[in-house]
Amino acid sequence: MKNRRLCVLGSTGSIGVNALSVAEHLGMSVHAISAHNNHQLLVEQTLRYNVKRVVVTNEDHYQTVKQALAGHAVEVFAGHKHLDDIAADDDVDTVLTAIVGAIGLQSTLAACRAGKRICIANKEPLVIAGRLVMETAQKHNAQVIPVDSEHSAIWQCIEQHKNHEIRDIYLTGSGGPLRGRTDLTDIKKEDALQHPNWSMGDKITIDSATLMNKGLELIEAHHLFNMSSDHIKVIIHPESIIHSMVAYKDGSVIAQLGLPDMRTPIQYALTWPEHKNGLVETPNFIELGSLNFEDVNHDLFPSIQLARQSLELGDFGPCALNAANEIAVDQYLKDQIAFQDIFKCIESTLPLVTQNHNASIQDIINFDTEMRQRLQS
Ligand code: NDP
Ligand code: MG
Repeated sequence: MKNRRLCVLGSTGSIGVNALSVAEHLGMSVHAISAHNNHQLLVEQTLRYNVKRVVVTNEDHYQTVKQALAGHAVEVFAGHKHLDDIAADDDVDTVLTAIVGAIGLQSTLAACRAGKRICIANKEPLVIAGRLVMETAQKHNAQVIPVDSEHSAIWQCIEQHKNHEIRDIYLTGSGGPLRGRTDLTDIKKEDALQHPNWSMGDKITIDSATLMNKGLELIEAHHLFNMSSDHIKVIIHPESIIHSMVAYKDGSVIAQLGLPDMRTPIQYALTWPEHKNGLVETPNFIELGSLNFEDVNHDLFPSIQLARQSLELGDFGPCALNAANEIAVDQYLKDQIAFQDIFKCIESTLPLVTQNHNASIQDIINFDTEMRQRLQS
């Protein structure tokens, strides 16, 4: 494997921190990183990994970061527009996107236009503009490699069987923090934030509680693997050992297994097409004893059906779904709305969508802005 030079967008988050430890393990040099509010960790990471360029997207922290790094050979930039510069930097060949939310769209596209290897964790840009992200990557010979564990699994199941005919993709999900509940009234934030298997940022943990994470992943899979949504099935698998499966037309099913630890898919995205020595153990199958599967309770958790509906609405459907979800999850985390209001917010937003199957990036950005303004007014 050639020694890759890495840029991690969102290095201070759950994925970002894991990505830096995997990069260190692999002996990869980290050229550039970004953070939004956690300036202290940004400075620590810069010094520890000998980073050359840093972006603090929240400009309020610029002076603090600049002063803390004075005397070191580091360039410090403030504001979102500089994410595009570090993503397209000539000294970088691999960009790992670990920002949360659709705000990561422009920098994802900048990495595509610069022809980088893009290890995509930040799923929302793929949700709102997947067709355009994939087209841009193809046009500029960029490689888009999934980091999301389900998509990394599907990628691994498919890549060995390139010309084989796929019947269905099985996207597995743990069921999230609220699996088994029969009533979602008055769900406390503390309960919704307790994920049984994965340790992740707050937004994706709430998405796991509503099962919207699986809805977003369905849209993500649709774009990454060019599969129509009726061939993407979702099943609950509480142990999170099988990360997803691909069924072929002869009835054969290939699955990818591993412990629920994001360092495995992060490392594979960085080392692809090779599997290198890693930081994670193999599951102990005897201790596990059995693996279980359940159907989704779509009446209680309508997110996956809403995601399917949004895809039928054309380019703006997933954009509206995502904007409503981001705003509602933020409001729930700030104790402004109840848990079930997240579903209501999305349900009331989808009818506002106008059909469009040929939207440009600018159209998507304008529509996203318009939706957010309407939802917040
Ligand atoms: P975290 O909340 O832990 O981290 C988010 C990162 O984005 C932080 O570095 C944060 O900076 C930065 N950030 C937050 N807001 C902004 C903003 N407005 N502008 C620029 N940067 C910002 O999230 P996760 O690591 O959990 O998730 C990151 C992405 O990866 C999400 O899209 C998620 O869906 C996806 N993902 C995550 C998985 C996981 O296991 N965590 C699994 C699969 C996918 P700061 O902390 O400095 O404020
Ligand atoms: Mg996932």
